[in-house]
Amino acid sequence: MRPTLLNRLFAPVTTLPGVGPKQEKLLRYLLGRDETPRIVDLLLHLPSSVIDRRARPKIRDAVPGTVVTLEVTVDRHRPAPPRNPRAPHLVYAGDDTGDVVLTYFRAQPGYVEKLLPVGAKRYVSGTAQMFDGTLQIVHPDRVVDEAGFAALSGIDPVYPLTEGLALGSLRRAVAQALQKLPALPEWISPEVIRRCNFPPLTEALNRVHVPVELTDILPERPYWSRLAFDELLAGQLALALVRAQLRRPAGDRHAGDGHLRKRIIDALPYALTSSQQKAVAAISDDLRQPVRMLRLLQGDVGSGKTVVALLASAAVAEAGKQAALMAPTEILARQHIKTITPLAERAGLRIAILTGREKGKERRELLARLLAGEIDFLVGTHALIQDDVAFKALALAVVDEQHRFGVRERLALTAKGGAVDVLVLSATPIPRTLVLTYFGDMDVSELREKPAGRQPIDTRAVADSRLPEVIDAVGRALSAGRLVYWICPLVEESETVDLADAQARFERLKARFGGQVGLVHGKMRGSEKDRVMAQFAASEIRLLVATTVVEVGVDVPQATIMVIENAERFGLAQLHQLRGRIGRGSEASTCLLLYKEPLNEMSTARLKVIRETTDGFRIAEEDLKLRGEGDVLGVRQSGLPGYRIARSDVHAELIAQARDEALRIMKDNPKLNGTQGEALRCLLYLFERDEALPLLGAG
Ligand code: ADP
Ligand code: MG
Repeated sequence: MRPTLLNRLFAPVTTLPGVGPKQEKLLRYLLGRDETPRIVDLLLHLPSSVIDRRARPKIRDAVPGTVVTLEVTVDRHRPAPPRNPRAPHLVYAGDDTGDVVLTYFRAQPGYVEKLLPVGAKRYVSGTAQMFDGTLQIVHPDRVVDEAGFAALSGIDPVYPLTEGLALGSLRRAVAQALQKLPALPEWISPEVIRRCNFPPLTEALNRVHVPVELTDILPERPYWSRLAFDELLAGQLALALVRAQLRRPAGDRHAGDGHLRKRIIDALPYALTSSQQKAVAAISDDLRQPVRMLRLLQGDVGSGKTVVALLASAAVAEAGKQAALMAPTEILARQHIKTITPLAERAGLRIAILTGREKGKERRELLARLLAGEIDFLVGTHALIQDDVAFKALALAVVDEQHRFGVRERLALTAKGGAVDVLVLSATPIPRTLVLTYFGDMDVSELREKPAGRQPIDTRAVADSRLPEVIDAVGRALSAGRLVYWICPLVEESETVDLADAQARFERLKARFGGQVGLVHGKMRGSEKDRVMAQFAASEIRLLVATTVVEVGVDVPQATIMVIENAERFGLAQLHQLRGRIGRGSEASTCLLLYKEPLNEMSTARLKVIRETTDGFRIAEEDLKLRGEGDVLGVRQSGLPGYRIARSDVHAELIAQARDEALRIMKDNPKLNGTQGEALRCLLYLFERDEALPLLGAG
């Protein structure tokens, strides 16, 4: 239960005066929430810069181009003449050193007269400009009287906004939100407070939203840092709670004698790479330990993670237990099942698939077999975590492409068994520092080598003015019997536009190449997507136009050419992922990166990295250098993935400190008891890391 202390902060923003339905919608979008944002969300939306209004020159001394606050007396108005309503409404004002013109375009009739009555003294703040030898301020940001001036902060925060949301109205909402801030207990230990020189939370929030100094809003200053630490601590503590949740009773073995694993390895048409062998050995070892496994298996696309996961599930089956693999999409789930079916069958491992498509009788029978222990390894989508999916003895949860799932989904799956071991598969190589923040204290196995026999990929950047040549080249490749991917532009935040572009490209290519062209996109139904993918894999379709749905994991080894349109719009990691669809077979592959001219410096550097290497770990490191971690994981904001306040570039030190603090708490007070525990629970709720709290009650 959420501490009642927090109720005021968790009230919807619409309870604030002046925040109506229109603002609510804009705030929902701005703050990235599906539901009405809460007051706490507003408070954690931090300024990106400030405007300094402290310069208070006389008119004569005002410097054009700077923000000034002038004390003036209003002389006269010249409203727009009725015959020319587009002309500005001018207000002539002055002080004892000169005159200033205040200019308003498209003002409501009467509004300016009321704001600046003739003869009244007003404080006017805005950017000074020189126009026809007279000082002018166009649309002053602030116009206040004596009383208003007393309350005017000399420094105004500027927030990231969204179209339609005015800075002023966001500022007013934040000011209201600050009034709702209750006195919260301190959750950071006195040692850390002292060492890091952290202010209390209330002070930190007040100083970033109502800066006293220009530097108050900088991420490296103590106010922002304190909030970043709170956020990091909440994250690390939540991960630690999940991790510490259970030890397996000794003797509860999750790995058997190895006979199934041996059968599978014997049935493989290839030899495991040495990093695959190492990963399998590490996992087998984890499964034998009485401690829960929490292991990340990282490897580039095509590095062979699925077979490692299969061997892990075989180990579990040998001990009479069950394993489950959860993939983020239907296509991927089917891909996995396709890869493992021939191997599993030969080893006698009983496998099944469960996605949103299995329904009715088929689903009921499958669930019955699962509960009876007649299925050893269940592969699926998040359909696996539905309430009525029950295992006889789930011992291993494999989660593919983890960063698409939250802790909540992972917990929901592991909750379907006792002391379930967790193996996370990630095709996005993540630098070590990030593993810590994102996954917490996890063991890591890396598949660094490519399976033997893979051909290098020839990657070239081509200006899109040469599109006709590219289409000709594709035509030649098709005649030579090759399979081609054509990836269409990704337009940020607009699936519909994506779709239109892909559709248009599809039509154009179809007009040229006819029935051998197919289209697959994210808006298609699962079964439809699978059908098209299957046709492509069977070479019935030879040119597949796709939006980024093919991004992860799809395996068509015969495909050897990929064209990526507007490659400059993709992140490095994403380009790498996409390109990983080719170069999987024994034929040499080519990747053409079409870009729009002119390329900026960043895009040039990114395309260069992609051309130079296919090593995902190196690409991840370069990406990190070029743009910061957010993008390594394909997250748009500049901060850490899943974090709103902490920033990897500035708060790297704090990540380690937050982790140490979380580990210390887990050692001293693992059940979060007493006053300190209460305070920490507040922290977890504030940052929405409370998923793990119910586990404490159960333990
Ligand atoms: P990932 O999931 O890491 O992207 P997959 O597990 O889908 O990669 O493997 C890609 C392809 O490589 C599959 O067709 C698989 O059969 C094959 N493969 C896996 N390991 C090896 C290996 N050691 N040698 C040759 N081929 C392999
Ligand atoms: Mg895979």
